[in-house]
Amino acid sequence: MNKTVLITGASRGIGKACAKLFCENGYNVVANYLNSERDAVALAEEFENILPVKADVSDEYQVAHMIELANRRFGDIDVLINNAGVALQKLFTDTEKYEWDRLFDINVGGVFNCTREVAHGMIRNHRGKIINISSIWGVTGASCEVAYSATKAAIIGFTKALAKELGPSGISVNCIAPGIIDTDMNGMIDAETMEELIDETPLQTIGKPYDVASMALYLASDSASFITGQVFGVNGGFLI
Ligand code: NAP
Repeated sequence: MNKTVLITGASRGIGKACAKLFCENGYNVVANYLNSERDAVALAEEFENILPVKADVSDEYQVAHMIELANRRFGDIDVLINNAGVALQKLFTDTEKYEWDRLFDINVGGVFNCTREVAHGMIRNHRGKIINISSIWGVTGASCEVAYSATKAAIIGFTKALAKELGPSGISVNCIAPGIIDTDMNGMIDAETMEELIDETPLQTIGKPYDVASMALYLASDSASFITGQVFGVNGGFLI
């Protein structure tokens, strides 16, 4: 029987690349989205085994409803990829409380809501893989991205602690910390800054969504069965 993966924020960027790659590799895919309905529907038209589900990951009730729809269509979730996220580039001193809260609600609250909802089934089945998408800035911190960096660091702590708690239940929890990846999220980076970032990267390029998706596919596979609580940099050597 095909395994089922739930990918949050699967309408664009890294999440969309994950949805395509997992589908091509025989998974049933629950592709969560919020605003980009047209992209999510187009994805589902391209692949038979993709179920697009609209839900705001920061809302526990919408998340519960999403999991209910997923279970009804595909049964229990085998793999959860907590990918949905938003960024904020601003001086810390200019950051408003509501902006701080919004980042935490989506980037951290979303991980909490989806993981808690899916964990029950995984514990019952004594198997499961949880893959959280953090960021290189959650490891190093980024100037003018304090709120974002703080949310991504929280995901690393969450990953390590949950790996210890769920390991005895046969569930692995890992984290990917991508470097600069070519998606809409980096649309605000000007050409000059992008050149500098590329120059600072040993592999002399920025990453593609597929680079992150293929690491997620590996972590979801049986080949990664002895790996948990780890943070994997997919960053072209930017941070070693
Ligand atoms: P992106 O292209 O901006 O896509 C973000 C995705 O998240 C979209 O599918 C969006 O859905 C979804 N999303 C946002 N808020 C949501 C919410 N409240 N509920 C449900 N879905 C929501 O971003 P990306 O670059 O692919 O980033 C994906 C993840 O990788 C993020 O966690 C990001 O922090 C992390 N990351 C990215 C980079 C990078 O360089 N790109 C580097 C390190 C880490 P809709 O469009 O449907 O609203």
